[in-house]
Amino acid sequence: MSTIKTSANFTELGLISPLLARLTELEYQQPTPIQAQAIPNILVGRDLIAGANTGSGKTATFALPLLQQLFQQGKSEKQSSSKGNTVSGLVLVPTRELARQVADSIKSYAAHFNGAIKTVAVFGGVSVNTQMLALRGGTDILVATPGRLLDLISSNAVKLDRVKTLVLDEADRMLSLGFTEELAELLMLMPKKKQTLLFSATFPEQVQTLTQALLNDPIEIQVQSAETSTLVQRVFTVNKGQKTALLAHLVKTNQWRQALIFVNAKKSCKHLADKLSKRGITAEVFHGDKGQGARNRVLDAFKVGEIEVLIATDIAARGLDIEKLPVVINFDLPRSPSDYMHRIGRSGRAGEVGLALSLIDHEDYHHFKIIEKKNKIRLEREEVAGFEMAEIIPDAYLDAGKPMAKPQGSGKKNRKKKAIEASDIWLKKF
Ligand code: AMP
Repeated sequence: MSTIKTSANFTELGLISPLLARLTELEYQQPTPIQAQAIPNILVGRDLIAGANTGSGKTATFALPLLQQLFQQGKSEKQSSSKGNTVSGLVLVPTRELARQVADSIKSYAAHFNGAIKTVAVFGGVSVNTQMLALRGGTDILVATPGRLLDLISSNAVKLDRVKTLVLDEADRMLSLGFTEELAELLMLMPKKKQTLLFSATFPEQVQTLTQALLNDPIEIQVQSAETSTLVQRVFTVNKGQKTALLAHLVKTNQWRQALIFVNAKKSCKHLADKLSKRGITAEVFHGDKGQGARNRVLDAFKVGEIEVLIATDIAARGLDIEKLPVVINFDLPRSPSDYMHRIGRSGRAGEVGLALSLIDHEDYHHFKIIEKKNKIRLEREEVAGFEMAEIIPDAYLDAGKPMAKPQGSGKKNRKKKAIEASDIWLKKF
């Protein structure tokens, strides 16, 4: 592990004035911890492996130095590298939404380069022709999902033999979505000698293998959740039959500006939206069966606050950056503990206060314990007044029959008291 430089303001990180001016406009007052540690090292050409919470500012971490390096390489080199549909900086991402979002951020950071850096996003689900046209004459920064990129390579619309910097964003997600073979194929098409920056929220074995094969004496940065988290996590127990009623109650009582609600199946999105509609709440749905155009429209409307309640599958759990999203609700628990972290990471981003709420019924108890254990968290079970569990949780639902260690003061009276506190104090807080 190498020594890590740290710095407290953007000027000290070695960034050039067109970028500093843009950061001032964006009102970024201080680098986030990952930015402070990584940017100076990326600028001097080091490889990087970073484990950071979503919302930690990782896009700017790679985008700012990448833009600076390409800008400084100057016009002469750029002209030669722009022949023949080549790419200088390649950012691989797992989903279409993330590709759009990352490319938009890069373009925004480059606002004072007066068009000197060309950034293109390519992803599936939309016409390939427009993307082919955009790639003509070479691209400085290409943000791509692996499948569509391979399609474009096979039609000679783009070549990777001049890639100088490779960014793998959400590497764990890319591998878990089955992009392993695509990644291997893409890596074969790139020069061996290049700078590689790998970001991953979690480090399963597959990511570690990739890291060993790909990175050269990397700087390693792990931003611990405690340093960056402004997210409050809570868990509410409720009878299965009352989950929808509790959700409607929470949405109405709290008047959240926006709420992102996760369910596990595409058809559950519509089902829940219909049930909420009967209770006077309008909700939109977001899942993989919607066309790309519809997905973009819904997401854009949610981002600007035209849609207040969005019911989504895990397709929305990764990387999406919705400014100041006040609350994420797990109506269904995610299957994997790492998806729990990704879902809740949609709220409490970049230092904003956020709330992640999970509604669990008897059947969810055991699974939620696993989520807690894997993510090294322990949350007190709470109830909302009027939605208390009908009875004490049967042992059968607890840890394979073992009685669960009761949180302090978990007797019936206390539980009632807690429910009242939760509704009176907490519900007013957000
Ligand atoms: P990311 O983790 O890249 O998705 O970034 C999350 C959010 O933080 C985005 O809305 C960024 O615009 C914002 N952001 C990134 N860096 C900073 C910073 N240093 N100060 C304030 N906001 C930031």
